[in-house]
Amino acid sequence: MRKPLIAGNWKMNMTATETEDFIDQLLTNKLPDDVEAAVCGPFTSLTILSDRAKDSGLKIGAQNVYFEEKGAFTGEVSAAMLKDINMTYVITGHSERREIFGETDSDVNKKNKAVLSVGMIPIVCVGETDEERTAGKHEEKVQQQVTSALQGLKEDDVKELVIAYEPIWAIGTGKSASSDDANAMCEIIRDTVLNLYNQATAENVRILYGGSVKPATIEDLMSKEHVDGALVGGASLKVDDYLQLLAGA
Ligand code: 13P
Repeated sequence: MRKPLIAGNWKMNMTATETEDFIDQLLTNKLPDDVEAAVCGPFTSLTILSDRAKDSGLKIGAQNVYFEEKGAFTGEVSAAMLKDINMTYVITGHSERREIFGETDSDVNKKNKAVLSVGMIPIVCVGETDEERTAGKHEEKVQQQVTSALQGLKEDDVKELVIAYEPIWAIGTGKSASSDDANAMCEIIRDTVLNLYNQATAENVRILYGGSVKPATIEDLMSKEHVDGALVGGASLKVDDYLQLLAGA
């Protein structure tokens, strides 16, 4: 059985002070046992989150990593540095990183390898643009991104992986994919993993939907066979909304 995962992606929001307030307020609540809760904060929030979340069951993730081990890469953060502050997850291949910072499929693949090599789990983001969907190229685009992101990864690693289907047109727009469309794309991602690996791996990999997920839409989304959770931007920034997402998952 795949455990549902609700992962917040704070993006470039939340100062250290705001992070302290959020985590203290969140942890006055008992988190559900049957849903995995994760928060991916900016680098400046990560030690606060991991220190305070210790023993709470809340998992913490980073939003980016550099794939080289160490050295003269000013401004970058390595996988070993993130592992050392007890990160469980690292988001890779988010469309904002691809579009704004020019990350390529090959960068995403190298980042996945770096993350896995130190025992963390990548949350690999894939998804099509509005134009690609209109042109009927969304399935092909996502299959290609998944294939490239997983290139050279071992079966045991892929089993633990999280893949997030995030159509770019649905991110931060309030225009979510329908739950049926989200499910159909998550199924295509699972089939892609099946073709690249095998049934056990495809059944184990968790596939999330992301793009304007709100407390009001989570239950419908989670009722779908291939949707194992959500990667949530805006609605993960307020404790009440985040708790409602966990409750609805
Ligand atoms: P929103 O939930 O704000 O649309 O963002 C989705 C996203 O990009 C999560 O990674």
